[in-house]
Amino acid sequence: MMAKYLETKEQYKDCILFYRLGDFYEMFFDDALTASKALEITLTGKDCGLEERAPMCGIPYHAADTYLNRLVAKGYKVAICEQVEDPKQAKGLVKREVIRIVTPGTNLDTNAMDETKHNYLMAIVCMADRFGVSIADISTGDYLVTEVDGCRKLLDEITKFAPTEIICNDSFFVSGVDVEDLKNRLGIAVNALENWYFGDERCKKTLLDHFHVSSLAGLGLGELNCGIIAAGALLQYLMETQKTAIANLTSLNTYFAGKYMVIDSSTRRNLELCETLREKQKRGSLLWVLDKTKTAMGARLLRSFIEQPLIDKEEISNRLEAVGELKDNAICREELREYLSPVYDLERLISKISYKTANPRDLIAFGTSLSMLPHIKYILSTMKSPLLVEVCEQMDELQDVCDLIDRAIMEEPPIQIKDGGIIKEGYNEEIDRLRAAKTEGKTWLAQLEAKERENTGIKNLKIKYNKVFGYYLEVTNSFKDMVPDYYTRKQTLTNAERYITPELKELEDIILGAEDKLFSLEYNLFSDVREQIAKEVERIQKTAKAVAAIDVFASLALVAERNNYVCPKMNEKGVIDIKNGRHPVVEQMIENDMFIANDTYLDNSKNRISIITGPNMAGKSTYMRQSALIVLMAQIGSFVPTSSAKIGIVDRIFTRVGASDDLASGQSTFMVEMTEVANILRNATSNSLLILDEIGRGTSTFDGLSIAWAVVEHIANTRLLGAKTLFATHYHELTELQGKLSGVNNYCIAVKEKGDDIVFLRKIVKGGADKSYGIQVAKLAGVPDSVIERAKELVEELSDADITERAKEIEAAGSAPQAKTATKVRNRPKTYDQVDMGQMALFDTAKDEDILKELSEMEIASMTPLEALNTLNRLQSKLKNRWSVTGVQG
Ligand code: ATP
Repeated sequence: MMAKYLETKEQYKDCILFYRLGDFYEMFFDDALTASKALEITLTGKDCGLEERAPMCGIPYHAADTYLNRLVAKGYKVAICEQVEDPKQAKGLVKREVIRIVTPGTNLDTNAMDETKHNYLMAIVCMADRFGVSIADISTGDYLVTEVDGCRKLLDEITKFAPTEIICNDSFFVSGVDVEDLKNRLGIAVNALENWYFGDERCKKTLLDHFHVSSLAGLGLGELNCGIIAAGALLQYLMETQKTAIANLTSLNTYFAGKYMVIDSSTRRNLELCETLREKQKRGSLLWVLDKTKTAMGARLLRSFIEQPLIDKEEISNRLEAVGELKDNAICREELREYLSPVYDLERLISKISYKTANPRDLIAFGTSLSMLPHIKYILSTMKSPLLVEVCEQMDELQDVCDLIDRAIMEEPPIQIKDGGIIKEGYNEEIDRLRAAKTEGKTWLAQLEAKERENTGIKNLKIKYNKVFGYYLEVTNSFKDMVPDYYTRKQTLTNAERYITPELKELEDIILGAEDKLFSLEYNLFSDVREQIAKEVERIQKTAKAVAAIDVFASLALVAERNNYVCPKMNEKGVIDIKNGRHPVVEQMIENDMFIANDTYLDNSKNRISIITGPNMAGKSTYMRQSALIVLMAQIGSFVPTSSAKIGIVDRIFTRVGASDDLASGQSTFMVEMTEVANILRNATSNSLLILDEIGRGTSTFDGLSIAWAVVEHIANTRLLGAKTLFATHYHELTELQGKLSGVNNYCIAVKEKGDDIVFLRKIVKGGADKSYGIQVAKLAGVPDSVIERAKELVEELSDADITERAKEIEAAGSAPQAKTATKVRNRPKTYDQVDMGQMALFDTAKDEDILKELSEMEIASMTPLEALNTLNRLQSKLKNRWSVTGVQG
């Protein structure tokens, strides 16, 4: 047995081998060491003909799925070696074969998956600087292919699809992609495949055979050289793991990344599209707000809408029109949603049916779902918008499949497929006959029991049954003497004897024979029904996609109605004009409709860059993210949280938000920040939207300010001309850029100052702020009073010292650019224009005289330049503090 085991293991070196022995799957040697640790199960040993016992551990076969899924979730590959002949019939060792290999990206067990997410396997073929990428979800039948050039674009695709497993050629490891990061941070299992998987001819042949076509051009793959190899390698890998034809991959869709808005991985995270940044939860993400879908298929489609916003105006408008029609038509929409409610996951069910793992209850769930289709289609047929008309046409009522299930399968069948009780009466004559024999058999047994009581005079004689002895006559000890000769003893108990008679034996044969035949016939017929349904896989998948689409549009329509969203007007002129925009997630989190709406205006000429200043906690980040999210929502085809919105379609959204350490990938906060800035500046185009929050914060003030300044200049002056940018900063010096660089405007978020405290007004107004209010915010946050007081003292001291320091630098450095910039911005002439803020403005006129007095008494002639500067600075600070409303510096 061990020799056989080792022979099998040799072929599956990279897998943990589950070796079936009786009622257990056993693992040996290194596999046992790995699995016992990963699964926390006992490690034992087994004699294997060697000096030392082989390490061994085992799991009961009936609980294997749970253990298997745990191993696979940890990234292991598991090969399942089954007994493929009946142990009773086997001569010598029972024949065993590996029947399936389960890996993270090829698992078909729906219990191991989140139904609202795809479980993608991605094949990457690296050839020079070009990558062939193919993606498949074997549990739903989705199968895609594309090509990208450059690591960054590849990474975008990886983060977009978030596969659980990547298979690749060896070159991928030297392509510049940080594979360790993929494994450790993103939790993706990365497996290099042997070279033969990537043979050009072999890959082509695999695809041609699978799709029964004679040319790849017909599949739309003509030009995709590395793409073909990726798709071919992926298909071979699936065949290798499933050990069967991959019948549910019925089409291969070519897509081009350029068809969708480009969103890089940090932007996806920062905008919290499908999960929150910190807790990685759906609650608190955009998906959480928009997802009111009723089906798993809809939930998955909505997620992919959010992950791939469109850039084509017509496509977006079509989606918006569909959502609009369902929004206006509340009765139809709610009816639709009611019919969608009982619809199970048709895509995953048809995959189970294709791979013969669906049980009778799965078929009932499938049938129930199909019975909703005519109602859904009927309502859809009343709709007018082109996309809904198309969805309606795509939806097949699948009446034949529904009827077949209805005719063949019992309404409440068991999960087991070998114990009968599956096939409905009237579906098959033989089944009905065998069932009748089984029932009649019971009457015959009752008659025989009565006859034997009569013949023998044994009043408590009974005919009973058990699995080991079959049918028998039971006589208690007190009547033992009355047993006639033709009774043959079968078993003796303490208080009774069990007998058989020729007549009972004959009946037993008929009854049990009928049952065996019945069960095996039921199994065969069930398999046959399952196969008949499997043949319709293409029709079913198409319909499932239509169901998913209608579910998504209904969900978006419902959310639009409930949350007071409006239809955005899309344009290709680059004008983003949002009136009263709200943050879709924050407004849901805030009670009593307390969210303050704000406008955003950006265009391709005079309003390209908004420099946004304002105190900590004022709402700068919220404002910028809401603007990005509103644009993104519009481009997925959703209505938006505004009172009106004109959205100029953007090709990419980039964000650089907050400081996040990425220790796992060995990068410091500032390094992460600068890497993201570099990425943005290199990859943004004039049609992009940039959200830059606190650039340069992670380093010294001078460096940070200089970097921030230079970044704004770069965006305003170079080929990025036109890239619409929201730039939040605490470097108030940047407000100086308004008027100096074309297209730059200052905005700030207003707060009201009351003595030592501040009130956040959350309203964005024109103009720049000149204070950060960090200490007030620290006070609000509960930092001890003593610390707050000390901080105030230090601010005074430091700002004096700052000026001293800078003056020294000017003297020393002459025209050094850093010192020059800093000095220039510090000493700029300041004009304070009071922004019209209605009743918010409060003025304090009491201390003018003190300041004037001090000024007039200054003995300038006896002061050093430094002392003069310090005094000037102090007086200016006093003056500034007289303004009780910030955001007043034009
Ligand atoms: P910092 O500079 O410290 O990062 P910030 O100016 O970016 O602060 P935000 O993080 O955007 O401030 O906002 C702080 C909090 O204020 C948010 O968590 C939110 O609860 C609330 N808030 C922001 N904008 C609004 C708004 N328009 N209406 C109501 N509440 C808001």
